[in-house]
Amino acid sequence: MIVIGAGPAGCAAALRLAQQEHRVILLERQRMATPSRDRLRSGEGLIPRTLQELIDLDIAVADAPWALSRIQRIRTVRQNGAVKTTAIDRMGGILQIDRACFEDVLRDAAERAGVDVRLGWRVRQFYYTPDRIAGVVVQPPGDQPACVLRAPIVIDASGRNALSLRSFDLRIRAGAGDFGAVVMFFDQVDGLEPDVWELHMFGSGQLSVVQLSQIEPGIVRCGLGCRARSSCARWATRRTSSGARSRSTRRSRVACNAVSSCGARMYARALATACARSRLMDYC
Ligand SMILES: Cc1cc2nc3c(=O)[nH]c(=O)nc-3n(C[C@H](O)[C@H](O)[C@H](O)COP(=O)(O)OP(=O)(O)OC[C@H]3O[C@@H](n4cnc5c(N)ncnc54)[C@H](O)[C@@H]3O)c2cc1C
Repeated sequence: MIVIGAGPAGCAAALRLAQQEHRVILLERQRMATPSRDRLRSGEGLIPRTLQELIDLDIAVADAPWALSRIQRIRTVRQNGAVKTTAIDRMGGILQIDRACFEDVLRDAAERAGVDVRLGWRVRQFYYTPDRIAGVVVQPPGDQPACVLRAPIVIDASGRNALSLRSFDLRIRAGAGDFGAVVMFFDQVDGLEPDVWELHMFGSGQLSVVQLSQIEPGIVRCGLGCRARSSCARWATRRTSSGARSRSTRRSRVACNAVSSCGARMYARALATACARSRLMDYC
């Protein structure tokens, strides 16, 4: 079998198939030789159900090298100021991860289980026989010519712009109400507790949710879920130190009013301005 894409989905599928004694080739277009960890691309949270699935795949979760910190409570802050804190009882909570390390571990586990992992191999298209997909046309690394790899089953795990979505015109055109995400990293956020995942809910406006969590001391992940139009000034000013409040309130309102036309980058600048006691380290 062929699996396209060595992200979490492709690695997990390849690993499970190898554990069931299928012959599997896992093709990944990137070379992924990460010399050092980049914490500032990290911090995705694995929910208890995902952790259980990893255990089912024989991936160790306790003391895993990719584990950064545990989130044991979710604090939801509504627009009307109502705050609700809920403990996460299952599996010790949400585990925030070093994404690059997580993928390395999954890929290594697949390789150890017998998967033929090929990095730097880009799948260009499916290979068809008259009645079915019978493999892929793939570009190996370097100057090697493109070739056909045949397989009775091809699994496409190549992500949000997956080859199958493009090949069969299955992509859904982005609409005005669609959700986008921006992740930013601050050095700190006042009052944020290390085991709490703060969710600030903004209803159906442009900025509909802000998620805040500390992924390790000195790095706070701030995820923004964005829609069409509104203002994020309310959240942006909440965390300003009291001395700087009025000045940065004005600044952030100006910045946030411009958000609807300028998009994600403006969010990052607006929040960095407003969070006077925090330092924006990076955003993606
Ligand atoms: C801003 C943001 C925040 C998120 N936060 C969270 C979170 O907190 N918790 C959570 O669980 N999820 C989170 N997610 C979602 C999570 O990142 C995705 O669900 C996950 O990465 C999907 O994994 P995947 O393996 O399906 O795809 P991907 O991770 O996209 O992997 C696809 C792989 O396929 C490879 N590939 C693509 N095309 C080809 C080709 N032609 N040939 C060979 N290889 C190819 C790519 O290089 C890539 O390695 C977040 C996503 C975003 C964008």
